[in-house]
Amino acid sequence: MNNYKYKKFNSIEEIKKYFRRKIKSLHPDKGGDKEEFLNFISWYYQTLQKFEDTSYKVHIVKNYPAKGNYIFSILEFTVEEIALGGKKKIKIPYKEELCKFCKGTGKSEKSKKKKCNFCKGKGIIELHKSFNKNQEFLKCPYCKGLGYLFTNECEFCGGKGRIRKEKEVFIEIPKGLKEGDILYIPDKLIGSICDLYYEVNILPHPYFLLRNGNLIYKCKIPFWEVILNKEIIIMTLEGKEKLPSKLFTKDPPIVLKERGPFLKNGKRGDLLIDFQIYVPGNIPQEAKRIISKAVEILQKIMEEKNGFNKEGRNFTYK
Ligand SMILES: [Zn+2]
Ligand SMILES: [Zn+2]
Repeated sequence: MNNYKYKKFNSIEEIKKYFRRKIKSLHPDKGGDKEEFLNFISWYYQTLQKFEDTSYKVHIVKNYPAKGNYIFSILEFTVEEIALGGKKKIKIPYKEELCKFCKGTGKSEKSKKKKCNFCKGKGIIELHKSFNKNQEFLKCPYCKGLGYLFTNECEFCGGKGRIRKEKEVFIEIPKGLKEGDILYIPDKLIGSICDLYYEVNILPHPYFLLRNGNLIYKCKIPFWEVILNKEIIIMTLEGKEKLPSKLFTKDPPIVLKERGPFLKNGKRGDLLIDFQIYVPGNIPQEAKRIISKAVEILQKIMEEKNGFNKEGRNFTYK
């Protein structure tokens, strides 16, 4: 009954699937033993936790080897993953297993119709047009003009008899990763079929940009927010945050010290808020009328306080 304790899993999904299947049969309502049922649930959470807790350190290398048995591919990271580090779930190529469907024979019992790849299912092949002649067609020699073939190759493994399994593992994201960096994961460390090399690819973010060890946050702030609100909401790596509106009356960027990405040396870069005051292109007449009333009041104060040099368009009024 406790045989599940020795089971090995290759992914969180596999653990969950197994749990969902087995929990039904163990349920006390279905005649299962209550203690066994509870033990199974706690085993499930422990197994899940253990899977997530096991993570591997990976190394940044200068280059991948010119020769040797290894797999090279691209690994995509979000800006947040690069900036904050932590763990990342990746799928690695794992051992090959016998195909369950054909039991390794590569063949299925029934033969099936399969589209002919040579003529792409048309049954005929077009010959090149020669001068002064009509286009010529030829019956496809592979499918004999049928457009399909009968095959008894196993659909599941494509006739190979074996299926390459993937395994999910968690890696620790190295601090200070850059676009184009190469990550090296030795096969022995991770139990993969061979050494793995990954080129770091950073996915574009709608408003964050990593640059020179800092994080740039690009945003547009509507002009009325700066006038009417005490605080303005911005985004940081830790989520939404409020900043005093006054900061947005000065030139960008606003610098939030040590709120940017974590760097190799353990320190944090800065968060630079590169804002732009947003003025809508189309302001309705009615809104313009109301705004011009407000402008009258403001201009009067500025002139009284001598804070407005009309000719040089130089504002000193604060
Ligand atoms: Zn098969
Ligand atoms: Zn054909």
